[in-house]
Amino acid sequence: MNTLLVVAAVQDGRLKRSTFEVMARARVVAGETGGEVVAAVLHPAARKLAPELMRHGAARVYVMEDPVFDRHINAPVIDALAGLVADIAPRLVVAPSTESFKDVMGALAARLGAGALPDVSAFGVDGDEVVAERPVMAAKMMARVSSQEPLVVVSVRSGSYEASASPVDGEVVSVAFTFDAATLRQTLREILTSGGGDVDLSEAQVVVAAGRGVRDEAGRDLVLELASVMGAAIGASRAVVETGLFPATAQIGQTGKVVAPDLYVAVGISGAIQHVAGMVNSRIIVAINKDPDAPIFDYATYGIVGDAFNVLPPLIEAIKALERN
Ligand SMILES: Cc1cc2nc3c(=O)[nH]c(=O)nc-3n(C[C@H](O)[C@H](O)[C@H](O)COP(=O)(O)OP(=O)(O)OC[C@H]3O[C@@H](n4cnc5c(N)ncnc54)[C@H](O)[C@@H]3O)c2cc1C
Repeated sequence: MNTLLVVAAVQDGRLKRSTFEVMARARVVAGETGGEVVAAVLHPAARKLAPELMRHGAARVYVMEDPVFDRHINAPVIDALAGLVADIAPRLVVAPSTESFKDVMGALAARLGAGALPDVSAFGVDGDEVVAERPVMAAKMMARVSSQEPLVVVSVRSGSYEASASPVDGEVVSVAFTFDAATLRQTLREILTSGGGDVDLSEAQVVVAAGRGVRDEAGRDLVLELASVMGAAIGASRAVVETGLFPATAQIGQTGKVVAPDLYVAVGISGAIQHVAGMVNSRIIVAINKDPDAPIFDYATYGIVGDAFNVLPPLIEAIKALERN
C-alpha cells in the first residue's frame, strides 16, 4: 500500500491551513497511486485535532500527546516521527514547509535514510519516482527535482494547493511516545511574536505589505490601518525593515518569509526580484506605486499608479464604507 503520511502543522492548538492544503494534494496523489492518506499530530491535545484531519481525508490519524510537544523542539519531534515512520512504512512523508518542519526535515530524512525534497510548490508520484517542482534563484526559475528512494520526505510551500474538505470515516490511533525531557540539550524559553499585526503572516489570506514608498511613521500608520480594515497580516520589504519602520519578522522575500495569500497588496514596493521571490505565488496582487514603470506592475493583477499618501486614505474609507453597508 502506498501510504502518504501527512505531518500536521499545529499553531496555538489549531491546525494550520497549510496542513489542509497538503492533505488536499495528498488525496489526489493517493488516488492516482492506489494509496491512502494518513496523518500524524504531535501535540499535548492531538486527539482533539483528529476529527478535522478526517474531514480532510485522513483514513487514520496517529496522535502523540506527550507534553514535550507543547512547543516545538527538534529532538523529540525527530524521534517521534522516525519511530512512527519505521512502524507504518509510508511511501511519502509530507508536511507543510513551516519553520518547524524546515528545522527537522534534514535530520529526519538522514535518520531514516530517506530522500528529501524540501520547500516544493508541487509534488506527485510518477512510477518509481517522487517528482516535485521547486522555485529556485529567488523564484526566477523552477527546478524539477525527483527521488527514487523508497521513502521520500517532502515539504510543501504554503499556498501551493487549494485546501478542500473530503470527509472519511477514519480512526484515531494513539501512539505511545515517551521522551525524557531531562536529556534535552536545548530548551525553548520564549517565543517572541512579531508585533507586526494580529494575523499570522505565513497563514494569512490577505497581506498588506509596505516598501520604501511609505517613507515614514505617517505612511506606516496608513498601511497599518489598511491592514486592520482588511483583516490582513502586515508584510514589508527589506528596505523598510532595515530602516526600523517594520520588524524583521515582517520581511517578505528571499531572505524573509514566503507567502502565498489570496490577496497581496504591495504599497510603495518596487518589485525587486528578492522581494518578489517571497510573494509571487499570491493569487491576486495589487500594487500601489507612483512610478508606472516599477517592476512590481509586471507581477500585479491590478495596479494603481499614484502616491500612496493620496491613494490609501480614500481606499481605507471606501473599505470601511463597504463594511458599514
Ligand atoms: C541577497 C539579497 C537578499 C535580499 N532579500 C530581500 C528580501 O528578502 N526581501 C526584500 O524585500 N528585499 C530583499 N533584498 C533587497 C532588494 O534587492 C530591494 O533592495 C528591496 O526589496 C527594495 O525594497 P523597496 O521595494 O521597499 O524599496 P525601493 O526599491 O526603493 O522601492 C520603493 C518604491 O516605492 C515607490 N514609491 C516611492 N514613493 C512612493 C509613494 N509616495 N507612493 C507610492 N509609491 C512610492 C517607488 O517608485 C519605488 O518603486 C535583498 C537583497 C539582496 C542583495
